[in-house]
Amino acid sequence: MTAPARQTLPAARAAGPALLQTASAGGSTGGEFRTVFGRNLIGELRNFVHRPYLVVTMEDLWPLFEHHFDSHLAGVHFVRTLDLDELTAAAERLPAIGSIVGIGGGQAIDVAKFFTWSRRVPLFQVPTAMTTNAPFGHRPLVRTGGKALAIGYAVPEAVYVDFDVIRGAPALLNRSGVCDVLCYHTAHFDWKLAHDSGKEERQWPYDERLVAEARQRFDSVFANLDAIRDGTDEGIRTLMLAHRWGGAAFHNAGWNARHMDGVDHCFLYSLEHVTGKHFIHGQAVGLGLYVGSELQENQPGMILDALHRTGVDIRPEAMGVTWEEAETAMRRLAWYVRYADLWYTIADARPVTDDIVDRIRERLYGTYGPWSP
Ligand SMILES: [Zn+2]
Repeated sequence: MTAPARQTLPAARAAGPALLQTASAGGSTGGEFRTVFGRNLIGELRNFVHRPYLVVTMEDLWPLFEHHFDSHLAGVHFVRTLDLDELTAAAERLPAIGSIVGIGGGQAIDVAKFFTWSRRVPLFQVPTAMTTNAPFGHRPLVRTGGKALAIGYAVPEAVYVDFDVIRGAPALLNRSGVCDVLCYHTAHFDWKLAHDSGKEERQWPYDERLVAEARQRFDSVFANLDAIRDGTDEGIRTLMLAHRWGGAAFHNAGWNARHMDGVDHCFLYSLEHVTGKHFIHGQAVGLGLYVGSELQENQPGMILDALHRTGVDIRPEAMGVTWEEAETAMRRLAWYVRYADLWYTIADARPVTDDIVDRIRERLYGTYGPWSP
C-alpha cells in the first residue's frame, strides 16, 4: 500500500510470490508468515508470549481486549503517530520487554513491526480487520516528511487470525480488502504494457511466473466474493491467505510489486494529491481499479460487478469526496504519475478523455445508483 515509485519504495503493502517455490492451490508457503486461524486466540496469548510483553494497539480497541492480559503486561503503546522520528524516540523509551503483541488494523501492526525491529524481541501479530496485507509483510510503513517510508524488517512468530475478532470489524474495512488483490488484474496489464512498450524497469523484467502466481490469488478471491462479503469463516480464510501471499510477495520477488500494483494505486495517490485526504486504502484503490480497467479496456464490467457484489462502495461520495474531485484526479492522472515519478502504466499510454470520464460516471452510478446522503 505504498507508492509504486521507481526511485523510492514500491508498494510496501503489496507483495510478490516466491521465486523458487511453486505455489499449490492452497498457497505457497515460501517466505510467507506462519498464520493461525481460530477462535479465542487473543485470550491464549498471555500464556505463551515472552514475558514481560508489550501490547501495541489503538486506544479505541484496547477496552475490547484489555481483559485478556495479565500482570505480565509491561505496558500498552497506543499508536498516535507513524512519524519515523517520534517512533524512534518511543522505541528508546520502551520498558524492558520480552516480546511484542500487535493488535489492530494497519497502523498498530506497522508500529509493532517497527518496535520489534528496534528492540529485537519476538513479535506476535493479531490483525483485527482484513483491510490490507500489512500483517503479512516484512517492512513497516511509517512516515517521514509527509512521505511513506518502508523501513525495517520483522518476521512474526505467528499471525493470529481470529474469526470472531475479524467479524467484529466494520464491514467496509473487511470487504475493501479484496481490492488489494483484485488490483492484480490491472497491475498485470500495466506490467505487460510496459514490457511491450520497452518501458519496463530494468530490475523488474516482465515475469510470467510471478503473474501466474498472483493470478492464482486473484482467482481464489474472485471465486469467494460472496463469502468474503458475508464474513464467513471460509471468506475470511480465503482473503487472509491471499493477503498472506501478497504481504510476503514484495520481499519474495526481490522488492518488486509490479505483479500487484499498477494504475489502480496510481489513481489512489492522484486522488490523495488532489484532495489532501486519506482514504480507506482498498476503497480508493477499488475506484482506481475500475478507472484503470476502463482505460485499459480490460473487462471493466467484470471488475465493476465484482466490487458491487462484494459490497465495496467505490462512489466518490462514499469515501468522503465529490464526483468532481474524483474526476479531477482522473484528468490529472497522466500529469501526476510523471510528477510523482511512478512506474509506467496505462496512465502514461492513454489520456483520460471526456468520453472515458462520461462512461465511468454513467456506469458507476448506473451500477450503485445515484448518491443519496
Ligand atoms: Zn495496496
